[in-house]
Amino acid sequence: MHYTVAFETLGCRLNQAETAHLHRSFMEKGYAVAENSAQADLCVVNTCALTSQAASKCRRRIRSILRANPDACIAAVGCYAQTDTEVLRAIEGIDYIIGTADKMDLASIIPEPAKLPEAVVVTRRMPRDGFSVAGTGYYPSHTRANIKIQEGCDFVCSFCIIPTSRGPARSRDFDDILRETRALVAEGHREIILTGINLGTYRDRDKGLVELIEAQSRIEGLERIRMSSIEPTTIDERLFDYMSGGAPEEYDVGRGGPKLCPYLHISLQSGDDGVLEAMRRRYTAREFEDFVELFLGRVPGAGMGTDVMVGFPGEDDEAFERTYELVSRIPFTHIHVFSFSARKGTAAYLMKNKVPAAAIAERSERMHELGEEKKEAYYSRCIGTNVRVLFEERETSGYFVGFTDNYVKVGAKHAGGLSNRFGDVAIRECVRSGPANALLAAGDLIKIERAAGDLVDIERGAESAAEAINKP
Ligand code: SF4
Repeated sequence: MHYTVAFETLGCRLNQAETAHLHRSFMEKGYAVAENSAQADLCVVNTCALTSQAASKCRRRIRSILRANPDACIAAVGCYAQTDTEVLRAIEGIDYIIGTADKMDLASIIPEPAKLPEAVVVTRRMPRDGFSVAGTGYYPSHTRANIKIQEGCDFVCSFCIIPTSRGPARSRDFDDILRETRALVAEGHREIILTGINLGTYRDRDKGLVELIEAQSRIEGLERIRMSSIEPTTIDERLFDYMSGGAPEEYDVGRGGPKLCPYLHISLQSGDDGVLEAMRRRYTAREFEDFVELFLGRVPGAGMGTDVMVGFPGEDDEAFERTYELVSRIPFTHIHVFSFSARKGTAAYLMKNKVPAAAIAERSERMHELGEEKKEAYYSRCIGTNVRVLFEERETSGYFVGFTDNYVKVGAKHAGGLSNRFGDVAIRECVRSGPANALLAAGDLIKIERAAGDLVDIERGAESAAEAINKP
């Protein structure tokens, strides 16, 4: 009997990395992957517990799967299963509730996808030890692949549930990461994203993030390494050398030069020292700004993303304005705005001085607008230049899109298949495109890769990449 499985992933990039492993582990057990949850024998929901909204989204998704496919076996796994086990147990129809420590073993926990009279619940305390991850993540429709290198966090910021949902900080075995990196490259992935909760704390014996990136940079066929979000106080400045191409000789990464993309996602959260202290962040606004100055001085032109939380308890108008001014001054290129919502189980849940919902909504809107302005300013700097892009997919708008190393989304209208190829694009304009009306630096494809590292000119009028590549 061949069963089918569907996955729904909520929340962060680390959840995506973990779903990719679950995907492969069920395929290896003979499951086929269903188009959607309504057609699957087994539905796995990889949950998120970060905010109250995320928690309620998990419950909505599970209920909607139960309505659409009442005979399916349902497994709720991960953060929300860990933090709110009893809430999930009260939803009739869930068959497995598996917490963070055991979710990667789901394929062995479920003997076959059957409805159960009551849910099997596995929510152990999280271990403190380092770990390995069996197998290789499966990314059938993505050119980029995530690699989990770290788990959990010891920082205990007052708004964050992660230390409860994912446990203490621990790191993946160094050689195991290299094994998976090689396997992903052998499957054709040319760009990987190092993923974790508190990435900068990665350490396996005497090796940290710098040694890991150095070792990965030596893997032939791997062209780009990105880091996902990283705490500003944990960044080893030697990483800047890898981003800027100025890695000193002792860090020589060999063929292909530096592969670490010049992009940092560093969470600011607030630009007000009082709020930062109440959040238990480990820097002041001044220290954050000094760090940015140092980073951009060493890696000019780098992209830089951040998270800003508005409406944290005690954030009065002046505190918000200080944040707004700081964000205006810093040349962020991507800003994620979060509205504070009290999350049960965190210190901030009990804090007084809650900000009224209307003020949070207004601050969120202003910060979003500022974020869009800053992104547009950064994208506009590409107009009139030629940029190198690793293409990913064709969007319904007709643009074939991909990203530069500093994380500018670029689109070129071209008939040929460009997926997973590098190309050079002459940027003409910035446009809004796709269902999300997202910003795109748009232009003409002027070079396309014929073989790895070998880019050929596209002749004017060439209809497709294949045509250009095949020209003698
Ligand atoms: S650093 Fe703070 S916000 Fe980030 S995961 Fe750890 S506790 Fe949460």
